[in-house]
Amino acid sequence: MKADFTEKLNKLVSRKKSNSFYFMNTSRYQDLINEVKETKNKWNKNFEDYKILANYDILNICDRERLIKPRDEVNTNIKFYVYMEELFGVLHTIHLLFKHANLDVMDSELKTKYCNVSKEVIKLYLSCCKICKEKNFK
Ligand SMILES: [Zn+2]
Repeated sequence: MKADFTEKLNKLVSRKKSNSFYFMNTSRYQDLINEVKETKNKWNKNFEDYKILANYDILNICDRERLIKPRDEVNTNIKFYVYMEELFGVLHTIHLLFKHANLDVMDSELKTKYCNVSKEVIKLYLSCCKICKEKNFK
């Protein structure tokens, strides 16, 4: 199932703009982490710098640096950015945890923890689940 998903995901990504934050690979993810760190240390921040810091922050979890959306009064939960290589694991966990959850359930669950998982990707994931497909044909 993961291979099927990855293949479909790569097809989808090839049609998208490469700088979209919905589809970042590990190297783009790491670049962003470095960029955020550099920007934080800058003395004279410009408009672009503030824009970066408004959208990205870094959190250390178990010695790993994770890219998150900065928290504010409205958005008090920690929301993680997901990179493409870990997308399948994230979707699969939620899908099975909620007993083959549908699009809406997955979307609302994922929104509480992650900030860059699109409905389009959830649909793509669901199209790879054989058990859900069979369910829908009955
Ligand atoms: Zn399923």
